[in-house]
Amino acid sequence: MNRVFNFSAGPSMLPFPVLEQIQKDLLSYKNTGCSVMEMSHRSKMYEPIISHAEETLRQLMNISNEYAVLFAHGGASLQFSTIAMNLASRTDNIDYVITGEFASKAFIEAKRWSSNTKAIVSSKDKNFTYIPHITKNIIRRNSKYLHITVNNTIYGTQYNQLPDTGNIPLVGDISSIILGKEYDINKFGLMYAGTQKNMGPAGVCVIIVKKRMLRELDAVVPPLLSFEHMMKNQSMPNTPATFTIYVMGLVFDWLQEMGGVREIQKVNEEKATLLYDFIDNSQFFTSFAKKEDRSIMNVNFVLKNDQLTNEFLKLTESRGLVNLKGHRAVGGCRASIYNAMPIEGVNALIACMKEFEKEK
Ligand SMILES: *Cc1c(COP(=O)(O)O)cnc(C)c1O
Repeated sequence: MNRVFNFSAGPSMLPFPVLEQIQKDLLSYKNTGCSVMEMSHRSKMYEPIISHAEETLRQLMNISNEYAVLFAHGGASLQFSTIAMNLASRTDNIDYVITGEFASKAFIEAKRWSSNTKAIVSSKDKNFTYIPHITKNIIRRNSKYLHITVNNTIYGTQYNQLPDTGNIPLVGDISSIILGKEYDINKFGLMYAGTQKNMGPAGVCVIIVKKRMLRELDAVVPPLLSFEHMMKNQSMPNTPATFTIYVMGLVFDWLQEMGGVREIQKVNEEKATLLYDFIDNSQFFTSFAKKEDRSIMNVNFVLKNDQLTNEFLKLTESRGLVNLKGHRAVGGCRASIYNAMPIEGVNALIACMKEFEKEK
């Protein structure tokens, strides 16, 4: 069998033991005579699968009962709209920090809901290569929440320190760093993440929201987009993405076996340090994200001679290191090294970079 190291930003690699377990379970899950894909979401067989996924996620992230954990449809992008609908009225002030494409999209969707949505600060002036400093006095005092994108998947930057928002709830898009680094949940009113980067196959967006922030919604909001409605129906107001939720549970089990988020964070930091150190010491490759704000999940780099990028990508591909092409908005290369990327993958990439540099 020929498995590659997949550096894609998402959907991304899954842990190998998880794939093996899926294969074992596929035809007859725990002797039920059917696969998880074929089960009713209301059945006795399925109920423990979804509650296990929620319970293990709560343990891994230390989520208290003050928060609801929802498994929603529509990816992270749909929540750009639903978060505003659920947390703010159509005239409320809402504040956004613009640190990249996803942050901009989130802002545009919120503005569609309330015209009093404001981008209070942006790092566009330097092509999103840094995280702007956020002080309490730039957040509007009566803002319903402050939205940040905790890890910027496309530009390879992350918040190493969360902003102090005082009593304004912090809302974080953690799509590409959930379970990759420890964050204090209690600093957030809401956090959300699509599954396909660090939790499983595409199809679910996890929303972790403080229950007391939920409220009766404007009648124009469809019930399926209401977090309170989702919560009251245990994430199953209609058929959820049953198979994705099952795989998430397996990924969470795997992570617990690895020692939880604290332990995987150490591995992630080690992988990122290896790669950044190599780039920093190279005359041939360079990275543009500001050092203090570099992402441990998405490592962007360029070749000093950009004309060689395609040739470099051909070499990596021939070595089974795939999907290293940078996002179209940025160019160059991007190595997404989420939880499931083993350190061997990073070492193989560095070896390939060394070899290419020597040849040129
Ligand atoms: C991938 C990503 C999204 C979009 O996720 P979808 O599931 O495709 O909607 C949003 N925000 C961030 C930070 C992402 O990395």
